[in-house]
Amino acid sequence: MTRICSKGFVMASFPYRDRDRMLHILTPDHGLISASARGACSVKSKLRPLANLFSLCNYEFYYHKERFYVDDGEVIEAFLGISESLEHLAAASHAAEVFRDLTRNSPPDSRYFNLWAYTIYEISQSERPVLISRLSTLRLLAEAGYAPHIDSCSVCQRPVSDEADFSFRTSGIICGRRSCESTSEDSLKLSAGTLALLKHTLTAPFSRLFRFSVVDEVEENASQFLDLYLHEKMEKEYTKLDLLEHPFDIDLSELRRDCD
Ligand SMILES: [Zn+2]
Repeated sequence: MTRICSKGFVMASFPYRDRDRMLHILTPDHGLISASARGACSVKSKLRPLANLFSLCNYEFYYHKERFYVDDGEVIEAFLGISESLEHLAAASHAAEVFRDLTRNSPPDSRYFNLWAYTIYEISQSERPVLISRLSTLRLLAEAGYAPHIDSCSVCQRPVSDEADFSFRTSGIICGRRSCESTSEDSLKLSAGTLALLKHTLTAPFSRLFRFSVVDEVEENASQFLDLYLHEKMEKEYTKLDLLEHPFDIDLSELRRDCD
């Protein structure tokens, strides 16, 4: 049995067995781990606050037979405000699902942990939490090696100014030249403002990633692109943000922070 101390973010928290909770915790050095918090559903359990969705905690784990168990710890930040607004909760849940999917089978990398730290903090504070969530997933994809090609035409490599079509087939923008246009059946037009926002998202240091201002038209255009790009790269339909369109149709049980 090995003792391991690490800070970590709760990315998912499920009731497990009788009064336990199974947690997915994103750590800087061990990546995304599954850890059992025994008895954490009990009101009296000292582990209960360490098992709340989105919380950042200092954990003491013991590691036995290739499994992590939460033994003790302290909450650093609970981000309680996130669950007080459906928009913030949906935004955080969407980004957390993408981070879980991408880090589940990736080698541990502290960049993912740091990006999530900036993301969850910004979602908790922002008036545009859903846009923050979507942009964060683009940066995550880029950090994992799946950045879109938006610096120049992805067919002829010539510079593109102003607006441009984004081709999902070439995973990049294409210029208006006739020889490049023919590949653009599956494309989406990106405005100059959207391209500027995407370039910022792909290149800014994490500390300045969410320091931008946008008009509603850019948010709308960028959001359409970001959802399609995420779906294309992850080959998966993400539905947490649908909660905002159809709040009565979605099963909320997965988003509950506590056991009862
Ligand atoms: Zn071209």
